[in-house]
Amino acid sequence: MRVTVDRDACCGAGNCVRTAPEVFDQDDADGLVLLRRAEPPPGSVDAVHRAVELCPSGAIRVT
Ligand code: SF4
Repeated sequence: MRVTVDRDACCGAGNCVRTAPEVFDQDDADGLVLLRRAEPPPGSVDAVHRAVELCPSGAIRVT
């Protein structure tokens, strides 16, 4: 799995950080998403899929 985030689309809701904190972080300066791991470990795959579903702005993509 490879994860990308679109900071221009992100509205800073933070759902991704609460759902998969090992993969996503929030910028202290502007509250927007930061990617901690573009290639999450197998144990985080389900959480990343949940984060995609919960993101209100469609800012997370997985391939
Ligand atoms: S859930 Fe979506 S909108 Fe919210 S911080 Fe994460 S990427 Fe941004």
